[in-house]
Amino acid sequence: MRYVTEFQDPELARGLVEDIRAAVTRPWALMEVCGGQTHTIIRHGIDQLLPEGVELIHGPGCPVCVTPLEVIDKALAIASRPGVIFCSFGDMLRVPGTDRDLFRVRGEGGDVRVVYSPLDALRIARDHPDREVVFFGIGFETTAPPNAMAVHQARRQGVRNFSTLISHVRVPPAIEAIMTSPDCRVQGFLAAGHVCSVMGTGEYPELAEKHRVPIVVTGFEPLDILEGVRRTVRQLERGEHTVDNAYPRAVPPGGNPAARAMLEDVFEVTDRAWRGIGVIPRSGWRLSPRYRDQDAEHRFDVTGIDTREPAECRSGEVLQGLLKPNECGAFGTVCTPRTPLGATMVSSEGACAAYYLYRRLGAPAPGAPAPAPVPSAVPSSAVPTPVEANPVG
Ligand code: SF4
Repeated sequence: MRYVTEFQDPELARGLVEDIRAAVTRPWALMEVCGGQTHTIIRHGIDQLLPEGVELIHGPGCPVCVTPLEVIDKALAIASRPGVIFCSFGDMLRVPGTDRDLFRVRGEGGDVRVVYSPLDALRIARDHPDREVVFFGIGFETTAPPNAMAVHQARRQGVRNFSTLISHVRVPPAIEAIMTSPDCRVQGFLAAGHVCSVMGTGEYPELAEKHRVPIVVTGFEPLDILEGVRRTVRQLERGEHTVDNAYPRAVPPGGNPAARAMLEDVFEVTDRAWRGIGVIPRSGWRLSPRYRDQDAEHRFDVTGIDTREPAECRSGEVLQGLLKPNECGAFGTVCTPRTPLGATMVSSEGACAAYYLYRRLGAPAPGAPAPAPVPSAVPSSAVPTPVEANPVG
């Protein structure tokens, strides 16, 4: 498949690994921002191919994982109401709320439907004018434009029974929060290519300069990741800290102007809580006042929700790169994809799910030798899909 298989070539991968090995003179810690990149890294054993001392820290870029528990509980409350059709991407159905998930609500008689586009939800609203149809709009800059488009279209078409429960997040404020954390070990970023295909690269030079950290826009196939690492390490070794686009086949410098215009029309920037991390200033979007009547939180009374996170779950530390999933005491024992305690174990972009699916089951013993390198990039077709889902980026 064009743009996929040629970016999984084992010989080219070996060449890139050798380039990285030749460039490295000291240890470096890089963060891949996106959960999709984390899955590529673990699935293909890329972290095990890298020279000793080059560490990949998994970042918070899993949209399902960072959606706050309070918003999940609001979704559960709205979906349970008689007369409501609650539409969501498949990823969200098994994400645990305080005491149940959307699958459970469906089992108890709620009308919860999996859709593949917010425009599917809008069509359902047109087909059922006597019901309230709510779309669960979560994710990063990648899913925000189509969700904004659905809100815009509903307004234009006069579909009054359509609303959205919005919990959108933005990457640059998260990078700022990571870099200002006292525990930060990150020295370079592999930025999320799909986010930049929408937003362009213009938000990153200020961050790179302020924190003196290289930011390399990186794609999602094994060679993309290795090229991102190669460019980041090269900058670090030279003492540079610029924004570099290693994914030009998908990322024009200005992003997608039509998508950005839609975002500006429908949303406004707001402070947003990230699950397990806390509130990050200006890190989210909500509907702008012009569209507030299509906000499900506004339309339904879902205040006063009492949330409770499982005490064992350390997904907040996983999302900040402070803990590897298999270092969590519940990993693979009480917490599995079938019995998830946290969203990072159930999302198709979650780091805990990646470690479980690709058999990184044991916590590394102190002083244990590094695992044997994986000899070649694994063809995607040989690996099963993690969780029934469509990624919400
Ligand atoms: S393994 Fe489970 S309990 Fe541990 S951090 Fe991941 S989701 Fe939470």
